[in-house]
Amino acid sequence: MTAALYAARANLRPLVITGRQPGGLLTTTTVVENYPGFPEGIDGHELMTRMQKQAERFGARIRSGSVEAVDLSSQPFGLTVEGEEVRSETIIIATGASHRHLGLKSEHLLENKGVTYCATCDGALPLFRNQPLVVVGGGDSACEEAMYLTRFGSMVHLVHRRDTLRASIIMAERALANPKITPVWDSVVTEVLDLKAGKVTGVRLKNVKTNTESVLDCSGVFVAIGHIPNTQIFKGVLDMDENGYIIPKRGTATNVPGVFVAGDCADHVYRQAVTAAGLGCAAAIDVERYLAARNE
Ligand code: NAP
Repeated sequence: MTAALYAARANLRPLVITGRQPGGLLTTTTVVENYPGFPEGIDGHELMTRMQKQAERFGARIRSGSVEAVDLSSQPFGLTVEGEEVRSETIIIATGASHRHLGLKSEHLLENKGVTYCATCDGALPLFRNQPLVVVGGGDSACEEAMYLTRFGSMVHLVHRRDTLRASIIMAERALANPKITPVWDSVVTEVLDLKAGKVTGVRLKNVKTNTESVLDCSGVFVAIGHIPNTQIFKGVLDMDENGYIIPKRGTATNVPGVFVAGDCADHVYRQAVTAAGLGCAAAIDVERYLAARNE
């Protein structure tokens, strides 16, 4: 949205293709407390709605839909959006990242039957009310989800594969100080129970230090173990690292001239709303300069 705002103000008539989750993962968080300019914090969905309105005010066009295929072999580049072709002289890829899954069959089969990847979206559901809940992960997302879920669950078990949290100090301290959150250290979920019942009744855990197994009763499993960049459609065309993050060269430019990148799909280090917005701004400025130099 920041890239669209800057590109629109530079009269480049940007078209924003929203993808499956308009506004991105930020729309699924609760209060964003670290985006500058909002001393009281701002709801993630509200922040993204405001960014879209700001970009539209200067002429950015918004099109809902996902890009199914790209042709970056010649300019104007081709994008297939829900079966229709869109052509553009330049592209800024800001496709973000999606939730990482544990990779268990039982996790997959019990998704939406107690297994979820978004406490904000699902935490208030009746099936989680006054029930013990499990959050898996040790980062900021896991701490945030666990704290949010204390509003609904009877208690929240924070299952982490190590004995220290990866989360920022402020988030880790808040989570561990919450009397409704119990950390379960050095443990991984090996199975979500119970497939026969067709709903979540607990998790089977393995302590990675002692190899002992145990069962923890719960009605919900909230998986918050990081993200995977949404870059699959650019595989083999754009330079990426082994985890699929696009590798920018010189600012936000990629290895294909005219294609630029911004945000979490190219950033596994900072991954903040404000750094993504900053990179969106940089990408739009890079596009403007690229077009100006080409047309000289
Ligand atoms: P993250 O920082 O990458 O943390 C992922 C966590 O999941 C780590 O603790 C990791 O364990 C664990 N994990 C990864 N794969 C696993 C697996 N297969 N099984 C079990 N555990 C696994 O991801 P995140 O928490 O989603 O945060 C992403 C970014 O967004 C960060 O930069 C974060 O600061 C930011 N964020 C900020 C806020 C905020 O400030 N309010 C809120 C949410 C997110 P290890 O620690 O052992 O690697």
